[in-house]
Amino acid sequence: MKSMLGNLVTCAVLILVIFLFDLNVPLGIGIGALYAFVIVLGSASESPRMIHFYTALCSVLLIFGAYIHQERLVPWSIVFINRSIYLALIWGTSALITRDQKSRQLLRERDSQLQRLNAQLEELVTQDHLTGLANRRRFDQELDRELRRCVRDLRPISLLMIDVDFFKRYNDHFGHQAGDECLARIAAAVKEQLHRPADVAARYGGEEFAVILPETERKDAEEIAEAIQSQVRELAIPHCKPLPGGIVTVSTGVATITPKNSAELSALVESADRALYEAKRAGRNQIVVAAIT
Ligand code: GH3
Ligand code: MG
Ligand code: MG
Repeated sequence: MKSMLGNLVTCAVLILVIFLFDLNVPLGIGIGALYAFVIVLGSASESPRMIHFYTALCSVLLIFGAYIHQERLVPWSIVFINRSIYLALIWGTSALITRDQKSRQLLRERDSQLQRLNAQLEELVTQDHLTGLANRRRFDQELDRELRRCVRDLRPISLLMIDVDFFKRYNDHFGHQAGDECLARIAAAVKEQLHRPADVAARYGGEEFAVILPETERKDAEEIAEAIQSQVRELAIPHCKPLPGGIVTVSTGVATITPKNSAELSALVESADRALYEAKRAGRNQIVVAAIT
């Protein structure tokens, strides 16, 4: 805004100086080029309306200049040719600048459209469309990134592996569509229990979810797992199988490490997976925390 105002003042002063020059030079030699220069200068303000305003102002002053030169007894025909050439120069410059501005505007619009499409594409590539959680691809990227960060900062990182209990029977009984809705509701319940921006909930596969908890101690990770378990129970989604309460439940494996190098990533995943397997074996609807390695 400040630079636009500066530009406006500069152009106004220049136009005035050029006009005074026109009054004092025979036939205003070169005056058209000077006005055209001001229009080019004004185009820096990026406003097409201002360009039109400068063009109109310069044209009026040029015509007024013609009157003054004729008054000084220069023949009309000479003055007419002189001013016509200058007007053509001014309008030509103005048209070129306006066209250039339009194509730059178009380029800017295309650019922002491209950026929007890129963001949508990025979302499609990294998001699970059924649950809205991160997909497996993004999970892998995030886990790798967060683990490296924890190696650098000597901080712990926790991983939860969550699997829906007896989901095959749920699907077989209520149908695939109901199964999808159930997964979406569980995913929302998982997400609701994460409060830090760095925490990532992902759909690991089928009816299995994974949660990355960077800089999270074992005890805190266990608390989050408990909160997720009870949130899922609170949904009270009826299950066909005679489960405790007759509702859909999940089992969770929790693992925590303070990694010394990034190669420990697979150990963390295996650990959480083993703990999940233990939770299933122990009767499901429970949390197992992996032993300290
Ligand atoms: P467990 O308690 O041992 O985990 O038993 P489970 O039946 O949940 O496990 P299993 O691996 O036998 O079956 C998983 C089922 O999850 C099979 C498949 O029909 C269902 N499933 C996987 N992905 C989807 C999905 O995207 N939508 C629906 N509706 N069902 C899915
Ligand atoms: Mg299951
Ligand atoms: Mg499973």
